[in-house]
Amino acid sequence: MSRYSPKSSRFIATNRPERKIEFPVNRDGQAMKVSEFFGENTWDFKNADEIPNNVRNELIEISQSTKKLSKELAEIVASAVTNWALSKGVTHFCHWFQPLTGSTAEKHDAFISLKGGQIIEHLSSTQLMQGEPDASSFPNGGSRSTFEARGYTSWDMTSPMFILDGVNGKTLCIPTAFISYTGQALDIKTPLLRSEVALGQAATKFLNLVGEAEVKSVTSTCGPEQEYFLVDKEFFYARPDLVMTGRTLLGSLSSRNQQLSDHYFGAIPDRVIEFMQEFDYELHRLGVPAKTRHNEVAPGQYEMAPIFDNTNVAADRNQIVMATLKRVAAKHNFVALIHEKPFAGVNGSGKHLNWSLASDTGINLLEPGSEPHTNARFLAFVSTVIEAIYRHGAMIRASITSAGNDHRLGANEAPPSIISVYTGDTLEKIFNAIIEGKSYNGDASDNVLDVGTRQLATLLLDNTDRNRTSPFAFTGNKFELRACGSEQSIGLPLSVLNAAVADVLNETNSLIEKETKAGKSIDDALAVVTKKWLTNAQKVIFNGDGYSDEWVQEAEKRGLPNLRTTADALPVLVDSKANSFLINQNVFTKDELETRYNVLIERYNQLREIEFNTLSMMVSQHVIPAVVNYKDKLSSIVKNQKDIGLESSVEKEIYKKLNFVAETLYSRVESLKANLKSLPEDDLKKARSMVDTLLPLSEEISSLSNQLEESIPDELWGLPKYYEMLFLR
Ligand code: ADP
Ligand code: MG
Repeated sequence: MSRYSPKSSRFIATNRPERKIEFPVNRDGQAMKVSEFFGENTWDFKNADEIPNNVRNELIEISQSTKKLSKELAEIVASAVTNWALSKGVTHFCHWFQPLTGSTAEKHDAFISLKGGQIIEHLSSTQLMQGEPDASSFPNGGSRSTFEARGYTSWDMTSPMFILDGVNGKTLCIPTAFISYTGQALDIKTPLLRSEVALGQAATKFLNLVGEAEVKSVTSTCGPEQEYFLVDKEFFYARPDLVMTGRTLLGSLSSRNQQLSDHYFGAIPDRVIEFMQEFDYELHRLGVPAKTRHNEVAPGQYEMAPIFDNTNVAADRNQIVMATLKRVAAKHNFVALIHEKPFAGVNGSGKHLNWSLASDTGINLLEPGSEPHTNARFLAFVSTVIEAIYRHGAMIRASITSAGNDHRLGANEAPPSIISVYTGDTLEKIFNAIIEGKSYNGDASDNVLDVGTRQLATLLLDNTDRNRTSPFAFTGNKFELRACGSEQSIGLPLSVLNAAVADVLNETNSLIEKETKAGKSIDDALAVVTKKWLTNAQKVIFNGDGYSDEWVQEAEKRGLPNLRTTADALPVLVDSKANSFLINQNVFTKDELETRYNVLIERYNQLREIEFNTLSMMVSQHVIPAVVNYKDKLSSIVKNQKDIGLESSVEKEIYKKLNFVAETLYSRVESLKANLKSLPEDDLKKARSMVDTLLPLSEEISSLSNQLEESIPDELWGLPKYYEMLFLR
């Protein structure tokens, strides 16, 4: 029997002392404003006092071009950042990177080196620019044999360095790309940076063509909203499934869960707000502009959102957010669950990627604007994005696939696995008019408006984002990719999205050039573009309920792919027709895509195997013993009552039912174990068995176990229950 004691754990979890933080005070003894300590643990040459202006300008130029960083300049940076770090009490530095594990990696080195027999603190230009972790220990999808596994990390000048602050010391983290000696990207960051180049060039050209001559660069922007659950440590560590897999593999839903819709935006419990205050504080010190915090739909579920950044920095910062979330939660005796589906029956967690493009001159390409010509540009750009989603929806779907996200997509709570675009009614009306070649100028009765006026911007802001069921929604002045999983690194979906849009935008540019050469005005050329893409891609626009069965059928009629699981979606990565836009634009090589396919499918299978082994272990070690124990109690009651001449009809009835369910459960677990032993060798076939056979079997097992949980006395059930994990804090 489990040593878990519900009584004492419940008492501990609901009587935690509050954790008080010492917030910094200024010279006048007043609490510092966020702006006074924001970013105190980050260092960026762009605004570091230690860097002379001429050096700074040179560095900025290098970071925006393909020019190489000289040793001399690197030396200046290395010495400036060393001085800064030492003044902060930092002892170690590390190259921080994102291998294909999906999380981050770091190898620490002390700042010390030997000079003339003496130990000094020093960071050399080489140590700053390049590191050499042993690449063979990171997943490489079989792309290189271990003996030639030499890889190096290289400083990403565009992402700020930051300090990891521990109780007993501090480490300076230098964001880096992780590349093999043959130039193959072994990480998430490198393709994202390449996609930024592809999209940046196409978008700069686009803006130049439509009359914005002074635009020199464009970057994609992203504000990722991060959802998570908080569970008290006391319950977490008594659940082998949460510890091993991040999600509950069995557990009966509490009678009250989210049906009252009272948690979303509800008052935040004291203990949680205390955690959030420290979480925000740490993020602000790390230069992450954490802005929004609130309760989410499920009990025990919350969200944070930062102010948006360029996508590369946003992707790094999202990793910092997830790491900080876990670290700070632990200090409050919580465990933060970032898994996409920790609890069956209540909402899972996602990451909404708000996305747009911004020019160096301050133009947001998805902002309708107040001038007729900016509206023409806006409509042409939106329709370019819509065409990109239509053309490359399957790849976008593949880029967000994972074992965890499979539980959300298509489960009537998250956007479906069919990638469609939500435009809102106003835009749809305008689009329909454009497709039909009608004038869309001010027919008030039909509410179709004059797009030549400032009305458009306000109307769109008021009329969009009323639909939470779409995977890709226009929300007034940005798009929101809502299908990304909460635990995923956002770098991969952003790389694919950027490349998809760049692909179509290049064609948009050619079309504009062709039309204007033939004598059309810019606005008329833009209208040609808009009409062409909308006519072609209108099938991907869907403004109805994405959770409904009708949409699944309708989407099938429209020919939109519905890739329900990882086994369906991952092969898209290596489909030569689907992936050519990534290869042609140098975002990924063919090898790099194969690498990712191999890593991701292997990872999927490994995670499922761990889940199924954990499940069968929990049934054997917790569920069946609880049944045996209760049966033993029941049978002695029956015997005792018989001895004194009493009936035991209820006890006997319960005994029989328990026995029946337990027998079925036992046989299903045996069958799960047998299936696990005879899995096919081939990775894709293995994933198929997981999806088609083992996962349904495991769900049957958890439902049988849940029936037992519901009939066994509370004090005999050896595992924390949903109501404890979701409600007690
Ligand atoms: P919501 O209604 O979805 O909560 P918000 O306005 O609060 O919308 O924005 C959510 C996220 O979108 C925030 O992270 C915000 O910074 C980000 N965001 C806003 N504008 C842009 C943009 N132009 N590009 C990328 N992200 C953006
Ligand atoms: Mg949002």
